[in-house]
Amino acid sequence: MRVVRDPGLLPERCVLVPTMGALHAGHLSLVRIARDRAGGNLPVVVSIFVNPTQFNDARDLEAYPRDLDRDVHLCAQTGADIVFAPDVETVYPPGVKTPSPKLPAVAVQPGLEDAGRPGHFAGVCQVVTRLFALCRPVAAVFGEKDWQQLQVVRALVQAERSSVQIIAGPIVRERDGLAMSSRNVRLSGDDRIKALSLRRSLDAAQRASTPEQAEQAMHAVLDVPGVDVQYAVVRDAERLEPLRDTRRAVGRALVCACVSGVRLLDNDAWIGPDIR
Ligand code: AMP
Repeated sequence: MRVVRDPGLLPERCVLVPTMGALHAGHLSLVRIARDRAGGNLPVVVSIFVNPTQFNDARDLEAYPRDLDRDVHLCAQTGADIVFAPDVETVYPPGVKTPSPKLPAVAVQPGLEDAGRPGHFAGVCQVVTRLFALCRPVAAVFGEKDWQQLQVVRALVQAERSSVQIIAGPIVRERDGLAMSSRNVRLSGDDRIKALSLRRSLDAAQRASTPEQAEQAMHAVLDVPGVDVQYAVVRDAERLEPLRDTRRAVGRALVCACVSGVRLLDNDAWIGPDIR
């Protein structure tokens, strides 16, 4: 396993797992998926880069956990070949204007991430475009944990007619059901209990027979002191628009809530009652 800071030292082709570090079992599951896809011929590159352009809150960027030595150790144990840990100046060379790709419509669906984090997906599209240019992956693995991000990246790749294959990895959870996240370390014991209402709200949505009922059920579960709900919705799974044919819908229940200032995301499939 090598740690590379200079993109000139990266291999010609690879399977890429883009991350912001502070790795946990969710990230490592993506490394295993990348290893399977790469087989014995292609190297697996894990990029570790806390991308400043996707943070619209300077305190969140500042508080973001960082531990490169631990991350490198975990990547080596999990079968990665290279950790690519570039400086900000490598990704965004000073004096050179980094082009921002056109934002796909799925990035700005009302009532989702863009409402609470304006500009976030512009930063995501920018960094994904730069990382793909620097790492030249044949395939890249993204987690379903960030469902909207996954749809945004898929739309970006399609719009740019890029040949990079986008592979999705399922959400990895703690034993109690909380979706793993690098931000979970900022939750106290009490916060953890409150945070479990996100997973429970997704379970409640499953039993509802319309998206409206599902959303009501989610809000009822999330009505907990200290849980500041940003959104709790059921949408088309790919375009993230409101669902039309709800009885035969392949939808996604998406929830975002802040607990003690920590922004938490979770999601799950929502299938219309006629095709369950
Ligand atoms: P991040 O470091 O938070 O930018 O995440 C890097 C990648 O790991 C993204 O594609 C995330 O969706 C994915 N990821 C984060 N948490 C999980 C999880 N609990 N399960 C699966 N994938 C995850």
